[in-house]
Amino acid sequence: MSGADMTRGSDANATDRTFPQSMRDEILDSLPFALYVVDIQSNTVSYGNAFFRGRYPDWQNQPCHLLINGLDSPCGHCCRAELLDAQNRPNGVSLRYEFFNEFDECWYQIDEKAAFWDDGRVVQYVIANDISKQKEMQNRLAEAHATLMLKHQELEYVASTDSLTKIHNREKLGRIFAQEIEHVGLNDKAFSIISADLDHFKSVNDTFGHAVGDSVLVQLARTMKDALRATDFIGRWGGEEFLMLCPRASHVDALHLAERIRAAVEAQTFSTGKTHTVSLGVATWREGDTQDGLLQRADEAMYRAKQTGRNRVCGEEEGAS
Ligand code: GH3
Ligand code: MG
Ligand code: MG
Repeated sequence: MSGADMTRGSDANATDRTFPQSMRDEILDSLPFALYVVDIQSNTVSYGNAFFRGRYPDWQNQPCHLLINGLDSPCGHCCRAELLDAQNRPNGVSLRYEFFNEFDECWYQIDEKAAFWDDGRVVQYVIANDISKQKEMQNRLAEAHATLMLKHQELEYVASTDSLTKIHNREKLGRIFAQEIEHVGLNDKAFSIISADLDHFKSVNDTFGHAVGDSVLVQLARTMKDALRATDFIGRWGGEEFLMLCPRASHVDALHLAERIRAAVEAQTFSTGKTHTVSLGVATWREGDTQDGLLQRADEAMYRAKQTGRNRVCGEEEGAS
C-alpha cells in the first residue's frame, strides 16, 4: 500500500475512532479514578463513574460541595470561574491542580474543564485522582532527605573538627592550607602562617594531671581563635601545637597578629589558676613555596622562639631561604 493509500484508508476509518456509545459506560466505569460531572446552575452532581459512585454512594442530586467537601455552601477553592467566559459559557480552559480535601483527608490531582452537556446545560467535568499515597511517599522521601542532609553535616563536622578543642583538626586545616597555597599562587596575594606551641606544657600535665591539661588546651584554642581575624583559620596540628593560616597577611601583618595572640594568651588565667604562655613562629609565602616548605620555616621560627626564651614571636630570618 502506498503512503497516499494509507492516509486515505485511515481517513475512511475516521468514524471508527469515535467512541462507541454502547461501550462508553463500560469504559468510564472501568477507570481507576473518579470522573464526575457537576451542573453549574444547581451545583449538583449529574454523573459519576463507578469509581466515583463507589466512593459516594449517595451521590445523586447532591450538591458537590456537600458531597465531596462536607460544606454547606460552595467551596472557597472552587475554580469554576476560570472555566467560564463572561456569558458563563465554557471558555475552553483546562485546569490541573493538586488539592488536599480536609473532609476525607486525601490529596487529589484534579483536572477540570467546563463543557456543554447533551441537553445544552453548562457543566463542569472533573477527574479526581487520589494521590495521597504518592504525597505520603514524597513527604517521607523529603523527611529522609532532610535527615540524611543533617547526618551528612554532622559527619562532616565530626570528620573535620578536633574532638577536644572543637577547632579544625589537622586534616581539615591541611585541606584549607592546600587551597590557600593554590589561591595565593594564582592571585599573587600575601599569605602567612603562624605555628604556636604551648610552653612547658609537660609540667602542666605533671603538676595538675592530664584532664586539667586538656582543659588548658581547650581554653588556649579559644583564646587564640578569638584573637585572630575572622578571615583567618586555626587548627590543632598535633598535641599542643596549633597552626594558624592568615590569608592576605604580609610578614609584618602576621608578626603583629602573632604578637596579639601571644599577649592574649599571656593575659589569661587558665583552669590551673595560673597563666601560661605560647611560643610562635611566623612564615610568609614566597613564589614557588609548597605547604611543607612554608611549614618548615614556621616551625624553625617557632623553635627559635623557644630557644631564645619562650613566650615570644619569631619571624623568618633575614636572608634565609
Ligand atoms: P616546650 O616549652 O619546649 O614546648 O615544652 P613542653 O613541655 O610543652 O614540650 P614537650 O613536647 O616536651 O611536651 C608536650 C606535652 O604535651 C607532652 C604531652 O603529654 C602533652 N600533650 C600532648 N597532647 C596532649 C593532650 O591532648 N592532652 C594533654 N593533657 N596533654 C597533651
Ligand atoms: Mg610541642
Ligand atoms: Mg610545648
